[in-house]
Amino acid sequence: MRTKILQLLRERPSQPVSGQELADKLGITRTAVWKHIQNLKKMGYVIEAHTKKGYIFVSAPDKLLPEEIGQHLHTRFVGRHICYQDTVTSTNEVLKKLAYTGAEDGTLCVAEEQTGGKGRLSRGWFSPYGKGLWFSVLLKPSFLPQEAPKMTLLAAVAVVRAIRECCGVEAMIKWPNDVLLDGRKMVGILTEMSAEFGHINYLVVGIGINVCVPREMVPENLRDSAVSIADVAGHPIDRAALLGRVLDCMEEYYGTALREGFAPIFDKWREYSTTLGRMVKVISPDKTYIGTAVDIDPEGALLVRREDGSIERVLAGDVSIRPAHGTGKYQ
Ligand code: ADP
Repeated sequence: MRTKILQLLRERPSQPVSGQELADKLGITRTAVWKHIQNLKKMGYVIEAHTKKGYIFVSAPDKLLPEEIGQHLHTRFVGRHICYQDTVTSTNEVLKKLAYTGAEDGTLCVAEEQTGGKGRLSRGWFSPYGKGLWFSVLLKPSFLPQEAPKMTLLAAVAVVRAIRECCGVEAMIKWPNDVLLDGRKMVGILTEMSAEFGHINYLVVGIGINVCVPREMVPENLRDSAVSIADVAGHPIDRAALLGRVLDCMEEYYGTALREGFAPIFDKWREYSTTLGRMVKVISPDKTYIGTAVDIDPEGALLVRREDGSIERVLAGDVSIRPAHGTGKYQ
């Protein structure tokens, strides 16, 4: 009901909508309308009440409230159930618990702040209050568990497209799934899975996007390697609009992957890749070498041509890809 009231008020910006009109359109009493308006005000919406004229929508809070995300969403199921939290340890942890108790396919968990955000191998993800998009999506795909790592590449492609379309900055993907801007890391993605032999129970795709983290707030050890969209875009970013776009793109690509496999997604990945065609240094537990990143294979593994012409197949895992020469920035 709150969402409908907001919608009706927003349809007529800076014009009053009477309590009676809202009550008639929604089939509730004027007192009920008034109560909903009070709740919206408590949530941070600024709504002016003019005697005898009605209510005027002034502004929405800068929060990732379901009412705000919903405005920008065109999906069938992704993000249609939203668990919105102020502060959590990590959205992946919350969503895994919800998945265990039967949450629906496509459920979104989004928070203003994570106190224990995680990257791969339990590395931390810095997620300060109100400055980014820290969220996770629950998916229950019909494909086999060995396909799951490809979802991480799919998520990167969806995020890059959404950022390019919404924010006008040239985000790129560093294999397999780091999203970079100007050679620095802007997005982290962590996919976790619950599976049995031959069957995925669920995937939790966790995504952290630095939207407007002020540089002085970033921990010193990350200052040179991290970047926010707003630093590069030079204008404010509407977080709810960007999140809506990411979810739209995720659902579209996920549908494609279920119907046609991952090949079309990998084509998009190639288009956005900053790794392909470059000299890279591969640091794996047993060897280190330099070569040219030439392609990804149908499994999403990176193919690196060494100086002797042999091709190495690099799997994601505890492998680090660095620029072969130069600044130490990610490439
Ligand atoms: P990796 O790049 O090692 O695969 P992840 O994608 O899992 O790692 O991200 C975790 C790493 O990202 C951390 O080890 C840290 O160096 C860095 N990091 C943590 N928080 C942020 C952030 N908000 N922005 C950019 N980089 C971050």
